Amino acid sequence: MSQHAVQRITVLGATGSIGQSTLDVVARHPDRFSVFALSAHRQDDKLFEQVLRFAPQFAVLVDGEAAARLRTALRAAGSRTEVLCGSEALVDIAAAAEADMVMAAIVGAAGLRPALAAARAGKKVLLANKEALVLSGRLFMDAVAGSGAVLLPIDSEHNAVFQALPASYARDPQRSGVRRVLLTASGGPFRASPLETLAGVTPEQACAHPNWVMGRKISVDSATMMNKGLEVIEAHWLFGASADIIEVVVHRQSVIHSMVEYIDGSVIAQLGNPDMRTPIAHAMAWPERIDAGVRALDLFEVARLDFERPDLARFPCLALAFEALRAGGAAPAMLNAANEEAVDAFLGHRIGFLDIARVIEPCLERAGDFAVDSLDAVLAADAQARERARLEIHKLAAAR
Ligand code: NAD
Ligand code: MG
Repeated sequence: MSQHAVQRITVLGATGSIGQSTLDVVARHPDRFSVFALSAHRQDDKLFEQVLRFAPQFAVLVDGEAAARLRTALRAAGSRTEVLCGSEALVDIAAAAEADMVMAAIVGAAGLRPALAAARAGKKVLLANKEALVLSGRLFMDAVAGSGAVLLPIDSEHNAVFQALPASYARDPQRSGVRRVLLTASGGPFRASPLETLAGVTPEQACAHPNWVMGRKISVDSATMMNKGLEVIEAHWLFGASADIIEVVVHRQSVIHSMVEYIDGSVIAQLGNPDMRTPIAHAMAWPERIDAGVRALDLFEVARLDFERPDLARFPCLALAFEALRAGGAAPAMLNAANEEAVDAFLGHRIGFLDIARVIEPCLERAGDFAVDSLDAVLAADAQARERARLEIHKLAAAR
C-alpha cells in the first residue's frame, strides 16, 4: 500500500502540449495521482483516448457538437465518464470538492475563469496559463491569499525561480536578500536571423522552436519574445517583484531555466533538459520529488552556456510588456488581449510577423480608462483592447 493519499487532479486543457505532459506524469505514478476531470476546447478524438486511458469522472468539451460526438463514442466503448459541455462546466470541474489539484493549461484569456475558480476554491493550483495572471494578477493573487490555495508555477522559468527561492520567501520576502530575478529566454527561432528577413517569416517558421515543442500560440509568442514579456508580468505577480529587479537574459541553450541573485553575490540557478515534465512533476509532487521521465542532464554534452542581452529593436514586444507592467492597472490585460488577437491574425496569414507589435502598441493607449478591481472590469479592458486590435489588424491587412 502507498503511504500517500491519492491526489485527484482536474486537467484543464488536457489535449494540449502541457495537458499531455501532465497526463504522462500522472501515468507514471498511479499510486499518487488519479484523474478527476479532463477538458478540451473541441478535440473530441484526442479527449476520447485520454478518457479511456484515465477514466475520469467528468470530461468537458466547450464545443457542443464535439461533446455530443464524445458522449456517443464513450457510451459505445462502455465508458462511465460523464460528458459535460460549455465553458461554465470548466468552472465546475475546477472548483469541485472532489478535486485536490487543478492543472490550469488552457491557452489564453479563455482559461481565466476556471483558473480563478480553482484559486477561489482553495485548490492546489498548478498554473501554466500565464495569460490568466497577466490579465488579472491582483484579483488572482487576492483569491489565492483569501482561500489559502497553494499556487505553484508550471512555466519553466517561474518554476525555476520558485525552486531557487528560500522556503521562507512567501512569509518574509524582505528578509530573504533577493536582489534580482533573472529570467532566461531562448530568443526563439529568429534570435539570429537577419533583421530584414523577419517581415516575411511564416507561421510555420515561427512555430519551429529550436528547444521546446509547444502549442502554436506560445510558439509565436516565443518568436516575438512576447512570451518573455508575459513572463516578466507573471513573475511580478508570483514573486512580488517590481519591473526594476526583473532582468531578461537570452540563453540560447535553454538549460538554465532561470536564476535568483542575492545581496551577498550568490546566484542560484535551476538547470535541466528542456522538458516541461520537470516543472510539472515538481509542482504535482511538491514539496516532494518524483520521477518525471526526463533524461538526466548531460553537462558534457551541453558543453557550454551562452548569455546575451535581449535586443529590444529586434523584439519590440518585450519592450511593450515592460511598459505595460510599469504603467500598471489595465495595461497588462490590454497588452495580453491585443497580443492574442494579433497572434491569431498572424497564424491566419492575415498580418505579417512584424505587424504583431504594430497591432499591440496603440491598444495600450486607453489603459487608464479601465479599473481592474473586478472580473467584469478586467474583461471590459480585455474586450476594448480586442476591438481596437481588430481595427488595427484590418488596416494592416488592407495595406498588405
Ligand atoms: P496548446 O495549444 O497545446 O493546448 C491548449 C489547450 O487548451 C488544449 O487542450 C485546448 O483544447 C484548450 N483550449 C484552447 N482554447 C480553449 C478555449 N477557448 N476554451 C477552453 N479550452 C481551450 O497550448 P500549450 O502549449 O499546452 O499551452 C497551454 C498554456 O500553458 C498556455 O497558457 C501557455 O502559455 C502555457 N505554457 C506552455 C508551455 C509549453 O511548453 N507548451 C510552457 C510554459 C507555459
Ligand atoms: Mg516559459
